[in-house]
Amino acid sequence: MTDKGLLIVLSGPSGVGKGTVRKEIFSQPNTAFEYSVSATTRTPREGEVHGVDYFFKTRDEFEEMIRKEALLEHAEFVGNYYGTPVDYVRETLDRGKDVFLEIEVKGARQVREKFPEGLFIFLMPPSLTELKNRIVTRGTETEDLINNRMLSAREEIEMIDLYDYVVVNDQVELAVERVKAIVTAEHCRRERVAYKYKRLLEAE
Ligand code: 5GP
Repeated sequence: MTDKGLLIVLSGPSGVGKGTVRKEIFSQPNTAFEYSVSATTRTPREGEVHGVDYFFKTRDEFEEMIRKEALLEHAEFVGNYYGTPVDYVRETLDRGKDVFLEIEVKGARQVREKFPEGLFIFLMPPSLTELKNRIVTRGTETEDLINNRMLSAREEIEMIDLYDYVVVNDQVELAVERVKAIVTAEHCRRERVAYKYKRLLEAE
């Protein structure tokens, strides 16, 4: 029996660089995860290829996918639908391969409900750390500006509770290394592997 693959979810606030980190991960030849291509109703950008970057759908087609429960999760982001085709995810995990999703936070929350055993990584903007320093040292910014920043910082921090790991995207190469290290460690987690060794003992 093949062991199931790991469902890896990379998410985080908008503008944090999820897409850049994901593309760098998949440009490396030793990456063994399978990328789950999302469906979207947004129009293709120059150079984007149907079936590689996204499955480009009309709103009607997308809503049909929702109705047929063909999506593991979906969310509306800046006026367009985005969603993860569920069959690909299940089939790939069943083949023992790790599946990698790069999705926004509302979608990640839905995946957490359906796949609590997944590996959830929150990509964090480095500005949040800088922001904290700035507030602590009481800079010259107006109170309004500080309050606004604190509000968005709080919203971002509250989302973290859903995740297993937090990776700061200070430099893309470092963020990629951290994500890959987390996946490697996750494969060695006792809860995931202990049963195999116990099975070995039982066979004796
Ligand atoms: P973009 O239009 O720039 O390619 O993506 C916009 C946002 O949608 C990004 O934050 C990206 O992570 C997110 N996204 C891409 N695919 C999916 C998906 O299948 N589901 C969800 N919930 N978000 C997605």
